[in-house]
Amino acid sequence: MTLTDEHVQQQTFEVRNPANGDVVGVYAVHSEADVHAAVARARGAAAWWSALPHAERSERLTQWRAVLTRRMAQLADVVHREMGKPHSDAMLEIVLAIDHLAWATKHARKVLGPHRVSPGMLMANQSATLEYHPLGVVGVIGPWNYPVFTPMGSVIYALAAGNAVVFKPSEFAPGVGTWLADSFAEVCPAHPVLQVVTGFGDTGSALCRSGVDKVAFTGSTGTGKKVMATCAETLTPVVIEAGGKDALLVDEDADVEAAADAAVWGGMSNAGQTCIGVERVYVHEKVYDRFLSSVVDKTRDLRADTDLEAKLGPITMPSQIGIIRAHIDDALARGGRAVVGGADAVGERFVQPTVLVDVPEESTAVTEETFGPTLTVKKVRSMDEAVELTNATRYGLGATVFSEKRGMELARRIRSGMTSVNSVISFAAIPSLPFGGVGDSGFGRIHGADGLREFTYAKAIARQRFKPPMLLTSFSRDAKTDSRVAQLVTMLHGGASTLPKLPKRGRDRS
Ligand code: NDP
Repeated sequence: MTLTDEHVQQQTFEVRNPANGDVVGVYAVHSEADVHAAVARARGAAAWWSALPHAERSERLTQWRAVLTRRMAQLADVVHREMGKPHSDAMLEIVLAIDHLAWATKHARKVLGPHRVSPGMLMANQSATLEYHPLGVVGVIGPWNYPVFTPMGSVIYALAAGNAVVFKPSEFAPGVGTWLADSFAEVCPAHPVLQVVTGFGDTGSALCRSGVDKVAFTGSTGTGKKVMATCAETLTPVVIEAGGKDALLVDEDADVEAAADAAVWGGMSNAGQTCIGVERVYVHEKVYDRFLSSVVDKTRDLRADTDLEAKLGPITMPSQIGIIRAHIDDALARGGRAVVGGADAVGERFVQPTVLVDVPEESTAVTEETFGPTLTVKKVRSMDEAVELTNATRYGLGATVFSEKRGMELARRIRSGMTSVNSVISFAAIPSLPFGGVGDSGFGRIHGADGLREFTYAKAIARQRFKPPMLLTSFSRDAKTDSRVAQLVTMLHGGASTLPKLPKRGRDRS
């Protein structure tokens, strides 16, 4: 959403519970000036935070982890109120974030601290050191669908790498962002190392133009393009974690029950509002009927509502309802069939689980991110066909493979940043694995060692240990030295074993 005159005049906005429309909070619409002021404060905090001995920074992050852990039920309440997801789902995303915080705190020094690397033969007199320095201030722009886990994937790794952070949460989850920053302030009361600015798209845009040293954006591909264009004005580097259209592949030798369970949970949990949620399923013809019947049984047990037994919550963003309806209608109009749910499943605030079959591959339900509790299930003749269809998308975020014998091979052939074999979405919960996509799903990585390095710059230091026998970096270098260097390089790299095999003379005339 962009800022209207009404919002500017109000300078505050209301957040409503998507399940019932009740107002659950009122937050400031932070202006460009507010954002710049926050970034200026963050500069001072970054200088202090990055200069702390590693042990002290680590101690404060550990204290924050304890605060989050002790109060996770309270945080889950805020998530539940703002985005309507069931309390237990809110708890799940919080515990996963806590695990990432533990990993990043423990591994930051080892990953980023000084490493001696080989100086090579010509510079054998040098000691070569590689280390990773914090960038300074990182701007994090987050979505609403996992308002804790998703932005924390950037916030945690940026902080652990020694940066200060200014975080712009989604307009649908400002209370969660504020809660996180307030909890961090308890362990760092004197320095604004983690601040929150609230508002709409314009506040995010102001953060992109504020002179931060990097922007970590998570959200839709369309907004990601705008963020990148805005960041280009100031040559601010970006990480883009954008949408997906993840597929689940079921091989003929797969554990069909487990695959069906994974497809249903991967597709329907969080009411399908998961960037790495399963949206498409390709099933080997030999197990298709068994798989589909199990998916149908499991999906019929699910319901979207407000009561405690309902496993699915509402669709948080009202505008998404129209997109989900359009995808289902398009699939049905093109000859697809709903074996569970369908056109009637789409209500005003809730969408009931829907399973579609016989949906042509050019339908929007197959080509575009639906972001609702829907699955398309397609029968394939071979896993080659399954891989081909999986890769026929401009997205490339996650994927899932169920196969006893060929899991790893199929996983490697899928063009996606992450793939789980014989389980679903597990890669996101393993802190040591990098998270991110290719193509329209974005670029850059959060989580793991790559995620720590993403918020640093590589610093190379060459220290001369002793005077070299041949000084290359001096005008005193003479022809004799050049000749000796040429001989040395020929000896090292010009041997027969390193020569490329050339075509025989006369045979290759192309
Ligand atoms: P949006 O792209 O609508 O918004 C993401 C964030 O960007 C929000 O904070 C939004 O603010 C802000 N924003 C909007 N316009 C601008 C702008 N011009 N400049 C800077 N910031 C701006 O995404 P959603 O919040 O709707 O989240 C859902 C999307 O996120 C899905 O596509 C999903 O796949 C993706 N996602 C990707 C993940 C990944 O890791 N790859 C993880 C989770 C979600 P405001 O809310 O105020 O408009």
